[in-house]
Amino acid sequence: VIRRLCIFGVGLIGGSLARALRKAGAVEEIVGCSRRVEHLEEAQRLGVIDRFDTDPASAVAGADMVVVAVPLGAVRAVLEALRPGLAEEAVITDVGSAKGSVVADVRAVFGTMPPNFVPGHPIAGTEQSGVAASFPELFEHRRVILTPVAETAAEALGRVRDMWARTGAEVVEMSVALHDEVLAATSHLPHLLAFGLVDSLARLQEHQEVFRFAAGGFRDFTRIASSDPVMWRDICLANRDAVLEMLDRFTADLAEMRAAIEAGDGQALLECFQRAKRARDEHVVRREE
Ligand code: NAP
Repeated sequence: VIRRLCIFGVGLIGGSLARALRKAGAVEEIVGCSRRVEHLEEAQRLGVIDRFDTDPASAVAGADMVVVAVPLGAVRAVLEALRPGLAEEAVITDVGSAKGSVVADVRAVFGTMPPNFVPGHPIAGTEQSGVAASFPELFEHRRVILTPVAETAAEALGRVRDMWARTGAEVVEMSVALHDEVLAATSHLPHLLAFGLVDSLARLQEHQEVFRFAAGGFRDFTRIASSDPVMWRDICLANRDAVLEMLDRFTADLAEMRAAIEAGDGQALLECFQRAKRARDEHVVRREE
């Protein structure tokens, strides 16, 4: 059982983790910290946290588990601010959607990789944000990826594993580099495309007509463009190299599709669509069943 959990950023992810651990009886006390008092008051009113402190160093005092759940662009500043109050034996982890940038931030702030820091990323979320959108079942039957580095202590890793297991998640481990490549392909590129497509259409002169006739397919494809813009700006910049690599690859493939249409090459289009359908039916649809 976690004695005192301190969560930085009690939003969708931090709030859902708090609710899940509370529901599982896996934590005794939960302290919240972020910038805005009204967000923390709301979290307390909803019973997500027991108390809050807007001063990071005093919020973290006496905590045996610390979770950083702020947008990636804020991680370094939050670590700087909490560091003076962090107990040496406290385990600290994060939920950021890119891991290379978090590891670099930790090294920059602590001068080294503390053995008690365990980089992590729950593969669960919705396009909503804020504590009001949080719910305890968010992580059930979902994966949580932990990306320990050479310095990470086995005991700290075990404690973070146990914490996520109590939320109903399946915990897996992989390297920082593999995590960032896989997530660039499966999450970051799709979000970029969804935001980009909706923005392109929104900037058409006749956009009102266009959106009026947008049906189910458009809704499915663009749901994630309702996600938080700040969070996604941070993710694209934080995972720059892997995102650029996927984006270049996709841009080349898109150019091929364009060329096939221009040339009236139905065979090339058909082959592309057939490969895609086969892959989706096999890897995505089957997994949902
Ligand atoms: P969210 O609902 O917007 O919550 C973010 C929280 O961070 C808010 O409580 C906010 O509170 C606080 N915050 C923002 N900037 C801050 C700063 N500069 N200093 C201190 N606190 C700050 O976002 P979320 O969806 O939970 O995402 C949080 C993290 O989880 C991100 O790193 C994201 O990459 C990762 N993640 C998200 C998803 C997803 O689908 N949403 C999935 C997996 C991982 P105040 O406004 O009061 O400061």
